[in-house]
Formats: sequence, C-alpha cells, structure tokens
Amino acid sequence: MLKHRYIQVVSIVSCLIVVIGMLFYDWTIYWFVLIGLIALGLTTWGVFDIRLGYFGKTFFKAKDIGENNISLTFDDGPCPYTLQVLDLLDQYKMKATFFCIGKQLTQYPEIAKRIIAEGHSIGNHSYTHKKDIAFSSPKEMEGEIQQTDDMIEKITGQNNSMYRPPFGVTNPNVVKACKAKSKDIIGWNIRSLDTVINNEDRILKRIVPRLKAGDIVLLHDTSQRTVNVLEQLLIKMKELNLQSIPVDRLLKIERNG
Ligand SMILES: [Zn+2]
Repeated sequence: MLKHRYIQVVSIVSCLIVVIGMLFYDWTIYWFVLIGLIALGLTTWGVFDIRLGYFGKTFFKAKDIGENNISLTFDDGPCPYTLQVLDLLDQYKMKATFFCIGKQLTQYPEIAKRIIAEGHSIGNHSYTHKKDIAFSSPKEMEGEIQQTDDMIEKITGQNNSMYRPPFGVTNPNVVKACKAKSKDIIGWNIRSLDTVINNEDRILKRIVPRLKAGDIVLLHDTSQRTVNVLEQLLIKMKELNLQSIPVDRLLKIERNG
C-alpha cells in the first residue's frame, strides 16, 4: 500500500532494524541513507501523482459505471477561450466540468454564469493559483478555497464539494485544508499536457488511444491550441460513442447548495 502513513511506519521499523544490525551484525550506516532515499522518492512521487492518493483520498476516475461516460475537465479559466470551448461542447452535446480560479471568476463572472446555464459544473481551483501554493499553510489554503467558494456561490448561486489542487500537487497541508472545508480532491487519469506540448496532434494522441468509460481528462481552457484539440477530440468521442458528463455526476458526488 503506497500511503504516506504506511511508508512512515515502514521507514521507522526499517531504521530500527538497521540499528539492531549495526549493534549486533556490523551493518554499515549507508542502510539509513538507502531507507531515507527510498522514502523521499516515494513521497515525492506521492506529491506529484494525484492518482496515488498518497496523503489522503483523491478521485481520479470512475469505476464500474456501466455506461459510456467520461468527464472532460478544464482548468485555470474562466477566460475568453472558455467561450469557444462552450460553443464546441454545445455543438457536440457534451457536458464538462470547469475548475475555475477565483481571480479569473472576478474578471469573467458572465462566462461562469454561462457555464452553469448550459448544464456544466464548476469546481474550485484555488483563488490565486500561485506557483508556491503547495507550500502554503493549511489556514492559507483554507482561505483560498473559501474565497473561491464565495465567488462561485455569489455568481452562480450554487456550490459543491469539488476541489482540484493547482498543479495536481497534494501534501498533508492540502489534505488538511480540504478536510476543514469538506472538499473532495478531484484529480484525473488522463493528463493531456496541453499547456506543455505545442503540437496539437501529439496532444490528441496522448488522449484518444487511452480513452475509456470512467476516465477523467485534464485540459485547460486557456489557449487556442486546446480549443483546436477539443474539436478533434469531440469528433473522436462521437466515433467511440463516448459521452462527456460533469465530473461530479461521473463520480456520483453531486451536492448543490
Ligand atoms: Zn491549474
């Protein structure tokens, strides 16, 4: 089991065994270094791979759903590109989830209203999305979550339990803040890398061959590149008979109000 607590216990027990080994069997001190490096490596993996749920429960795909549903999720908006994304989703009759940044919501409240009016859902993606947000204290993170929740509620009149940590980074503080704010941590199992890869075909090839029911796809409604990729992706999804629905419905964690 690859969980933070479990790795901590295994590391401590391993260190005690090494102490005994050093006292009675002439073991070298390098065993400590090895244990430390393995624990550090596993913890680093846990921080950056949201699918592991290393520090606490995370949702990253739906299991045994029995229908051809997936969820397209768009992070870091709303912004003017969101309008093109909404047009395409409407054209192909697909519903998605938008993980919005609070600061963006203050700039584009009308786009957020349109997202909800057209049957999509909005999740919380922090207020600032600052680069070092993972180093914030639980209280600071709680503040970011609350500020964005307040914005979502003020603009749309509704709210839910969905929080997606910026950069998909989880750690004990993120988990603590989410617990305090009754948030579910929502990840993904298909990362498009649409903010990193320039070639639209390459982005599409990262997504389409792996697509199956229950998947959660991470995209960003922040560039023309993603809009172009989305158009091709929606055509492929129709061919594959896959339907996108909001991720709270896919995961059955809908909770409005
Ligand atoms: Zn983001």
